[in-house]
Amino acid sequence: MKHGEGGKWYDNARLYSNELADEHNLREYLEEQWKAMETLFIRKIMGFSSIGLGYKMQMPIIGRVLRWAAERQIHREGSGRNPIQADGHFGQVLPMEDAQHILGNLAAEPICLNYCVCRWMQRGVKDAVCINFGQLSGVIEKLGRYVPSDKFYISREEAIEALERQNKKGYVASVWFQPVPYINAICSCESPECGGLRLRNDFGLKTVYKAEYIVEIDPDKCEGCKQCVSMCQFGALRYLPSIDRVIVNLDKCFGCGVCRHVCKHDAIKIIPRAEVPGQAGNY
Ligand code: SF4
Ligand code: SF4
Ligand code: SF4
Repeated sequence: MKHGEGGKWYDNARLYSNELADEHNLREYLEEQWKAMETLFIRKIMGFSSIGLGYKMQMPIIGRVLRWAAERQIHREGSGRNPIQADGHFGQVLPMEDAQHILGNLAAEPICLNYCVCRWMQRGVKDAVCINFGQLSGVIEKLGRYVPSDKFYISREEAIEALERQNKKGYVASVWFQPVPYINAICSCESPECGGLRLRNDFGLKTVYKAEYIVEIDPDKCEGCKQCVSMCQFGALRYLPSIDRVIVNLDKCFGCGVCRHVCKHDAIKIIPRAEVPGQAGNY
């Protein structure tokens, strides 16, 4: 099912199955991709390095070609994809409830909790917040640099709890194909460390889609305390002194729902993106 065609692609149980991974011989792909994560982080698009990519993307002809090539790489399906470039690796932001539903009902076992590659590469920080599962767990187990010494394999219940802890801390939940159509990761991301969010926010590449939801703030309940503003990783919330309320820029909202956790006045909820005419289909 193509993204946005009337349903949640991540609710399809088959996309998590070990059988699907075997059918497409994806273990080999995952081993190659994960062994080369450090290289992948400085990956090139058509021979152009990522240094100064923003400028190159703005160039009239080269920029257009680069964008086309990058999108093709990100969404490539089937044969010919290159694991060293992580072809076919993209994801979508999720609210906590959907991520927990996946971990409780759909994720293939075994489930593991490992260090986030993006934070490690960007800041040298080891933060065990990535929840991976199915055949990917066995691949990561062999890569000591991503494996926490205290605990690696976790139960479904522990995964659900870990996700909640991370989400309440302000991390954005996301679900990932690697590669499409095999789903094997629920991440807890932060911007700009997350490679996927960075490519999306800085260059508009569809490495990460917006959630199926969008935020709604009740102006009658909002007390203007501003607590929610700093929780938003996408700069979608702004305090307006003239009305002493927070307002949302719907175009910027990814629907992660993280801002809800700090509102003591129950003023924030998320609603289906499809119910907001100007935002339906804006992924
Ligand atoms: S996608 Fe998110 S959690 Fe996963 S490795 Fe990157 S920042 Fe970390
Ligand atoms: S946290 Fe709640 S009450 Fe405070 S500004 Fe945000 S929406 Fe308003
Ligand atoms: S405003 Fe939207 S993007 Fe920002 S934290 Fe709230 S739900 Fe997430």
